[in-house]
Amino acid sequence: MNIILMGPPGGGKGTQAKILEEKYGMVQLSTGDMLRAAIAAGTPVGLEAKTLMDAGKLVPDQVVIGIIAERLDQPDARKGFILDGFPRTTAQAEALDRMLAEKGLKLDGAIEIRVPDEYIVERITGRYTCGKCGAGYHDKFQQPKVAGVCDSCGGTEFKRRDDDNALTVKSRLDAYHAKTAPIIPYYDGKGLLRVVDGTQPIDVVTGQLTGIIDRSSR
Ligand code: ADP
Ligand code: ADP
Ligand code: ZN
Repeated sequence: MNIILMGPPGGGKGTQAKILEEKYGMVQLSTGDMLRAAIAAGTPVGLEAKTLMDAGKLVPDQVVIGIIAERLDQPDARKGFILDGFPRTTAQAEALDRMLAEKGLKLDGAIEIRVPDEYIVERITGRYTCGKCGAGYHDKFQQPKVAGVCDSCGGTEFKRRDDDNALTVKSRLDAYHAKTAPIIPYYDGKGLLRVVDGTQPIDVVTGQLTGIIDRSSR
């Protein structure tokens, strides 16, 4: 099973991708995580991406296409993948089609997690992750069971993304509406699009996603 999770920044793509990864043994391919790893490692790609990401702008297509092409060649991608945050432009969607065709891989679905803009500032400004294992949390919507302690690893240090502030949310939403939302009809045209209401609680969204995946893998 190879799927794309689409939706606005803070829409719940990463949260759901991690749950599906565990449940189905697929791998989450997040271009945002890969770019943040490149920044942390101080690579040339990281240096180029940092300024753009901090400003809430998209990183150039060739950069993310190159990253994904390499990642898809790693053996674990054959177990099935969940693309999270890629493709984000028409050029990326077309490049993905070419890459998959070359590698003999096929896309089984593109699922839009739909969340209106008015939810997004609160989602993004409340987001944080465990500094040790990367588990995701939210100040209001997804708190650890014991305050200050990660449910998954017991870690007590947490971090927030540099770009997760009210200022960059507007540019990120603008980029989403101008460049990313237009690729949704592209997948609809191929008969691959499914839409889930992302304003529902996390476990309800998960239930609908697993319903879609279970039906299409039958
Ligand atoms: P994305 O990967 O699409 O940017 P995330 O999965 O990181 O989004 O979610 C953004 C924030 O919102 C996180 O703090 C997460 O805990 C929280 N969140 C995710 N899904 C929901 C939901 N259905 N309802 C409420 N909060 C959610
Ligand atoms: P979110 O879904 O919460 O906005 P991501 O982690 O997916 O977060 O992306 C963070 C930033 O990384 C984006 O604002 C953008 O600058 C860059 N980025 C990630 N994926 C892509 C992509 N496919 N194309 C261009 N830029 C990307
Ligand atoms: Zn942890």
